[in-house]
Amino acid sequence: MTARHLLSIAEFGAAGVQRVLDLTDHMVAVNQRPNPKVPALRGRTVCNLFFEDSTRTRLSFETAAKRLSADVMTFSVGSSSVNKGESLRDTIETVAAMGVDAFVIRHRSSGAPWQVTRWTEASIINGGDGWHAHPTQALLDAYTVRGALGRGGAGTTFDGVRVAIVGDIKHSRVARSNVEVFCALGADVTLVAPRTLLPPELPTGVEVTSDLDAVIDEIDVLYLLRMQNERISDAGAPKGAMGTLVPTIREYSARFALTPERARRLGEHALVMHPGPMNRGVEIQVDPAELPGALITRQVANGVAVRMAVLFDLLAGPTTTMTGLVSEEATA
Ligand code: ASP
Repeated sequence: MTARHLLSIAEFGAAGVQRVLDLTDHMVAVNQRPNPKVPALRGRTVCNLFFEDSTRTRLSFETAAKRLSADVMTFSVGSSSVNKGESLRDTIETVAAMGVDAFVIRHRSSGAPWQVTRWTEASIINGGDGWHAHPTQALLDAYTVRGALGRGGAGTTFDGVRVAIVGDIKHSRVARSNVEVFCALGADVTLVAPRTLLPPELPTGVEVTSDLDAVIDEIDVLYLLRMQNERISDAGAPKGAMGTLVPTIREYSARFALTPERARRLGEHALVMHPGPMNRGVEIQVDPAELPGALITRQVANGVAVRMAVLFDLLAGPTTTMTGLVSEEATA
């Protein structure tokens, strides 16, 4: 059987998105059991290859694989032969030789996960590639919105839902993948950013503004992005500086942060999201714990269930059914 991959939301397709969102409901149910573990992927091996820092994505993939009873290898660049100059290809081929069914890859180079599909027979899951894509973040965000809006169930759409994605769009792989997922589900997406933090090529089907205050009253989902200081430094500005992209952080925050005033203007029903890690005081100047619509902790919790659904979708064989495996508790 040819390995299946999750590289980007666009390639995974709207049907794949729906399938994973529906599977996630079953995984949430597994996670609520006293023993949140099922034998669905017993005998499979998942390798986490993280060449860039990660807290949520790496830990949640590890947890997800273990809850499905897969064996997990976690590769940490700091203590590997990458430090002796081993290439990405040699690293993949070496680890694959140990018998791996899926690699979760995070890499600073955009496109690295596509490249890796040529070097191994295993399924590849993009855990974030450079500025480019972060499809499992987008899936967990879509699942979180679907739950918060009470729009669960097969064939969910976000028709009429107004989503504003605010901040450093240019350097954000989360923004790119979330535009794809929210548009695929039918939401109306507006990008809110200074012109200098917008990509040169804008995705089709979205509105763009640099005036958050003009749209804040109408938003159903306010999705705040982290200011990606490390990528701005990659692009040539001095480390930790905004270079010429924004005049000062204070000015940026005055125009684009969720301030107490803007939080008051948000509709009571409005949902507030952030992929983490948050730069408190920069893009968010209120305590999310005090916002009734904040979903930030729920996003993290859903990350495990969504990644279980992704692993199950890619790795469970055609004869493996949800009812057969997910309903049976692991004895291990
Ligand atoms: N954790 C997300 C990512 O890896 C968002 C961020 O870092 O700003 O892209």
